[in-house]
Amino acid sequence: MNTTPIIIAIDGFSSSGKSTMARRLAARIGYRYIDSGAMYRAVTLYALDHNMIAADGTPDVDAITAALPNIRIDFAPQPDGTQSTMLNGVDVERDIRRLRVSNAVSPVSAIPAVRRALTAMQQEMGLRKGIVMDGRDIGTTVFPGAELKIFVDASAETRARRRFREMVEKGNAVSYEDVLANVVHRDNIDSTRAESPLRRAADAIVLDNSDMTIDEQDSWLYDRFLQRTNAR
Ligand code: C5P
Repeated sequence: MNTTPIIIAIDGFSSSGKSTMARRLAARIGYRYIDSGAMYRAVTLYALDHNMIAADGTPDVDAITAALPNIRIDFAPQPDGTQSTMLNGVDVERDIRRLRVSNAVSPVSAIPAVRRALTAMQQEMGLRKGIVMDGRDIGTTVFPGAELKIFVDASAETRARRRFREMVEKGNAVSYEDVLANVVHRDNIDSTRAESPLRRAADAIVLDNSDMTIDEQDSWLYDRFLQRTNAR
């Protein structure tokens, strides 16, 4: 791409397919892709492994806040073109996708110190632009000045079905009902928390992809990118 690099922010509910779209667009246009949810998941995995989350799911805010300087997160490109989330140098890509982490991540993500630390890391990653980042607050808080903002929506059932299929394909023994319950629960916490809740930025373009194939989404997003960069 010979155009001036921009920042592309893709926000939406859990399992809305935003990561797939974001990753594929980044590969197509030669941008860096960052999955901000993976960063929240890595902090959650660290907290679980260090007994900082009670059996009822309540995180120990003080312990997690104090541990933040010891948590290093980065992304390692893999030979197959994907990237693995690294927590203090260890590949945790598989671990962070398990239901154990999905069930604990939203309360951890609501901790203001966690959000501040990860937002700062994400903003640093975007300094040189040429980045596609997906999450919940990318267009509102992390990059309010992003040149292209997308908000992806789809019904909870559609999203749970997708996540369920994905988990079964990866060999996880889960039930559809548990996955749906997790999706609805996370939607609720993510959109009602005090600090940077999930909401659509006023200047974001909304995409309801309930009835779209992945190829259709790819073309839709690529067209928005071309429009945005040609308009500059
Ligand atoms: O995108 P994903 O579903 O993997 O994100 C996991 C969780 O991380 C979300 O449910 C949300 O609680 C949190 N998150 C967030 N802000 C982001 C990205 C993810 O709070 N930008």
